[in-house]
Amino acid sequence: VFQLSVPLNFLGSVYRELRQSLLDMETLFNLQKVNVSIKEKPDAKALVLPRGGEIKFENVNFGYYEDRPILRNLSLTIPAGKKVAVVGPSGCGKSTILRLLFRSYDAQSGRILIDDQDIRDVTLESLRKSIGVVPQDTPLFNDTVELNIRYGDLDAPAEKVYAAARQAHIHDKVESWPHGYQTKVGERGLMISGGEKQRLAVSRLILKDPPLLFFDEATSALDTHTEQALMANINDILRGKDKRTSVFVAHRLRTIYDADLIIVLKEGSVVEQGTHRELLENGGLYSQLWTAQERWGEDQQEAEDSPANG
Ligand code: ATP
Repeated sequence: VFQLSVPLNFLGSVYRELRQSLLDMETLFNLQKVNVSIKEKPDAKALVLPRGGEIKFENVNFGYYEDRPILRNLSLTIPAGKKVAVVGPSGCGKSTILRLLFRSYDAQSGRILIDDQDIRDVTLESLRKSIGVVPQDTPLFNDTVELNIRYGDLDAPAEKVYAAARQAHIHDKVESWPHGYQTKVGERGLMISGGEKQRLAVSRLILKDPPLLFFDEATSALDTHTEQALMANINDILRGKDKRTSVFVAHRLRTIYDADLIIVLKEGSVVEQGTHRELLENGGLYSQLWTAQERWGEDQQEAEDSPANG
C-alpha cells in the first residue's frame, strides 16, 4: 500500500500543477490579446501587498501601435481596499488599463506600481495570482458546471463551490439544468446565456478570492434587475472582506455610482475624478453621461411597462 501511494501522490501533484497552469492560461485568455514578448526579469521577486494593494499609474503612455497613442501621460491612484470605477466614452482606454495591470502589455513609458513595486520587477506568476478578473466574455471549458467554477480554487470542497454559486445568483439556475452541477457546458455542452456565463465567472472569482479584483463590464450581459441584484451581492462580498481592491470598468453608471472613487477617462487621460455626488456637482463629463443615461433609462422603463409589450 505504501509503495503504491507514493507514485499516486506524485501523479496527484502533477495533475494539480497541470490544472494550475490551465487556470493561469484561463486568466490570460480572460484578458485576451496576450503578448508573448512580455518577459520576467531574472531577479524578479514575488509581489507582496503590505498596504493591501494600492495601484498607481505614473505618467503612463501606451498604444497598441506606435503611431496611435491610447493612454496619454496617464496618472491615477486606486487606493488599497477601495471600490473604484473607471468610466468614460467607448474606446477611451478603460479595458487597456486592466490589460496593462495584468501585464498582457507593457507601457511604452511611465510606471505602474502596486504597493510601490513596479509590476515589471515582480514575477508574472505572483502578479497574476493576485488578480481575479471577470471579463466581458467568459471562456468556458468543455466540462461540468462544477469544474468550471472550481477553476477558481481546485481544492475547494463542493459545498464551497455551491456557496460561491449562491452568492453569484446562479445556484438555482444550475439546479434547474438537466444534471445540475454535473451538467456539461462549453462549446460541446449545454448552451448557456451570456448572463449565466458572467455569473459563473463571478462564482469562480468568489472561490479564487484574490486580493485584487477587476470587473470588465462584468454585468453587461445581464438584464437590469439581475444586474442590480448581482451588483448588490458583489458589494456585500467586497464589504465582508478587508483589503480587497476592486476596479470596475463600466458603461452603465447605475452599476457603479456607489463606488468610493470614480475615475473619468477621455482619450486616454483622466479628465475628472471623485465620488458620484462630487462629479454631479462638477457638472463635467460624468454628469453629462449620467444625465444622458438616466433619460435613456426612463425611456426603457416606459417601454418595458407599456401594455403593448406586456
Ligand atoms: P469600450 O468601452 O468600448 O470597451 P474601452 O474604453 O474599454 O472601450 P479599450 O478596449 O481600452 O477601450 O480600447 C482603447 C482603444 O484601443 C480602442 O480604440 C480599441 O479599438 C483599441 N484597441 C484595443 N485593443 C487593441 C488591440 N489588441 N490592438 C489594437 N488596438 C486595440
